Amino acid sequence: MATPLRNPIVDIDRSIGDATTATGSRSGRAVHVTTAHSTTLTEPVTLGAGIPTSARQPHRSGMDLHLRQLSKRYTGVAALDGVDLDVAAGELVALLGPSGSGKTTLLRVIAGLLHPDSGQVLFGKDDATRLSLRERNVGFVFQHYALFKHMTVAENIAFGLRSRPRRRRPDKATIARRVEELLGLIQLPGFGDRYPEQLSGGQKQRVALARALAIDPTVLLLDEPFGALDAKVRVELRRWLRQLHERTGQTTLFVTHDQEEALELADRIVVLREGRIEQVGTPDEIYSDPASAYVFDFIGRANVLEGEVRAGRFHLSGHAGTFSADDVADGPARLFARPHDVAAGRDGEGITARVVAAHRLADRITLELNVHGQSRPAELDFAATPGLTTPAPGSELSLVPLRYRVYSA
Ligand code: ADP
Ligand code: MG
Repeated sequence: MATPLRNPIVDIDRSIGDATTATGSRSGRAVHVTTAHSTTLTEPVTLGAGIPTSARQPHRSGMDLHLRQLSKRYTGVAALDGVDLDVAAGELVALLGPSGSGKTTLLRVIAGLLHPDSGQVLFGKDDATRLSLRERNVGFVFQHYALFKHMTVAENIAFGLRSRPRRRRPDKATIARRVEELLGLIQLPGFGDRYPEQLSGGQKQRVALARALAIDPTVLLLDEPFGALDAKVRVELRRWLRQLHERTGQTTLFVTHDQEEALELADRIVVLREGRIEQVGTPDEIYSDPASAYVFDFIGRANVLEGEVRAGRFHLSGHAGTFSADDVADGPARLFARPHDVAAGRDGEGITARVVAAHRLADRITLELNVHGQSRPAELDFAATPGLTTPAPGSELSLVPLRYRVYSA
């Protein structure tokens, strides 16, 4: 389990002193930044802030965030429906859910881009619900967040620093150094003089991330920031983001519909369903102990077998054996098992199934199976060890679920 992260540069940062209140704004766009430690290991950069003193105080290594009964309705749909969540300072939390589950709405409400119908957003102890976007100290990268087109990449990244009042503005050399560091971090060294239109979509998103980081936000909000990148870069960047987070300890909310991304990246995962929180937990908890069939199904591959629970036993339709189903109410139910948690048993020992096809991946073979008496196919994974004979299509075997969960249907 991940623990809250310590900020290695917080000690240096103590020497900076308090922030002054100021809001940078140019071209009609608000940039709200605050006294901050640098996100890199060089000299800290101090920024101005547009939020009340009380809300600025204790966020040297990220601020805790609390959501209370947040609701937001659009015509005919509850985008958010009573969301309660506590995020500890320095945590990296993934908001995970399918399209339309309310992830973006939640992020926009936290940022102050959208006002909830009811409920509260608290930064630390301070109620920020009525504060504007300008007044909240958040950095954000949204799915389609446009860069300033008339500014170079370097100018985009430096924007928050340059907008500070002169008294607290870092000198040009410091800003330039900071921009260079951030360009290195986003793996775009040498791109400072380009304009956004000369970048790919993925590169733009990385610049947007650098710009969000440059102002050193109290809370960093990312809405599927890597959604536009190809798979390899995406994996590299999420690892990089994780490492960066461990150095900065910034409280981060990361929206994704990709469960792998959430499992790999997050300290905790919040699974959303139709505007409600279905489960909150560490990646291990979410993966190993899904609170509902919905979470089990969404968080990884799942075999679903239909049947019925009677007196604490699951009876699989069309089969003799039963499975334990403690605490599950009598009635229609479904047994969920991950393909790698199912073994091939000896004849008569498990659930009879017929091989439909065998799919080979690098180090794994997945058998696609028809389970007798069941409407859905099932899958079984095993390691593709040398010399192993893959069961031929048409052959029969029996399945033994080693680990499974039964949920009421
Ligand atoms: P996600 O980011 O998880 O895909 P969203 O937060 O964008 O989900 O949307 C949640 C729900 O609210 C969806 O049903 C969506 O259609 C609806 N919704 C979002 N924004 C608007 C809007 N501006 N007007 C009407 N409905 C909206
Ligand atoms: Mg969205």
